[in-house]
Amino acid sequence: MLKNQADQSTEAALKHVKPQVRELGAYTLRPYEPRVKLNQNESPYDVPDQIKQRIAERLADRPWNRYPPFVASNFISAVAQATGWPAEGILVANGSNELIQSFFAVVVGEGTPVVVPEPTFTLYRLMAEVNGGRVVSVPLDEELRFDVDAIVAAARESGAAIVVLCTPNNPTGSALTREEIERIHDETDALVLLDQAYVEFGGYDAIPLLAGRPRVVVLRTFSKAMALAGLRAGYLLGDPALVTEVNKAKLPYNINFFTEVAAAEVLRAADLLEPQIEAIRRERDRLYEGLRQIPGIRAFPSGANFVLFRVEREGLIHTRVFDRLLEEHGILVRDVSKYPMLAGCLRVNAGTPEETGEFLEALRDIVTGG
Ligand code: PMP
Repeated sequence: MLKNQADQSTEAALKHVKPQVRELGAYTLRPYEPRVKLNQNESPYDVPDQIKQRIAERLADRPWNRYPPFVASNFISAVAQATGWPAEGILVANGSNELIQSFFAVVVGEGTPVVVPEPTFTLYRLMAEVNGGRVVSVPLDEELRFDVDAIVAAARESGAAIVVLCTPNNPTGSALTREEIERIHDETDALVLLDQAYVEFGGYDAIPLLAGRPRVVVLRTFSKAMALAGLRAGYLLGDPALVTEVNKAKLPYNINFFTEVAAAEVLRAADLLEPQIEAIRRERDRLYEGLRQIPGIRAFPSGANFVLFRVEREGLIHTRVFDRLLEEHGILVRDVSKYPMLAGCLRVNAGTPEETGEFLEALRDIVTGG
């Protein structure tokens, strides 16, 4: 009887979803299988064979029928050793994405102000809004640099709980100096979340700011310089008392033992990755210089492993450039033109020297009318 009266429609299910979530679009990426993949800021180099071998041996030795350790202590102690930050102030997860989610879950509620300089990585806004928070957007300046005065003013006026600083910033490549970060911290009451996914490639490494500043939180990933995007690993550093709170929103056993073993081994052998990272920095510089020399292209300086550029040539639209790179050359870049302030912009990450060379040549041909 009751069954017949109940509403069986999809809308009856959806009406229980938070209204602010229904208004959002999900984070998505269109799948392509290009010959040259320069769209996700991955390392063009795989983990060196000798590290892989060591990881494979350690995995083979483990019982796969058992849960991973409750606390990923092997991974955490490798992070503690590499950063000099105490284990009690470290959380590890499947990529830094997951830590952004946990952090926002424990800080942001209905109407919580969150200052986000934009354009930036879109997940901060998404996580703030899923939790009902209020994003206070602060535009970058005309050169796409951080506007520190405006960030401080917005945080003070809104009473922000979090100021999110992605430095170096995705997708612009701009970075904050130590003094700028300190100013934002010292002149506001907010938690200062520093997403340093790209810091191995440039910009100020904020780990020294953690000591004595319980409002500073640093996020790092293994997906870029550390060449482990396929495994999903990242970590968060912060005051141990704050980390205890963030940990409450993290799922138990989130890290599987493949990730735990691999991330720890990669971190312990990080010197073997240094030549790769150096090569990526060189290619990033070459990309920037090469882009600057193409008439009709405006490139923005970058401290990350990618370069943002705007197609400014009369009569040529960026979508045509994107399509021709892909269809005629098999080269995939990222269309970021829908981000605020980035009309006409594409982002390209540093590849191997051959890939970077191919990209620059293809783009020159397309833009100069080839
Ligand atoms: N932060 C920034 C700024 C990023 O660009 C990315 C990846 N695109 C992430 C975090 C997420 O990285 P992870 O693979 O560690 O989840």
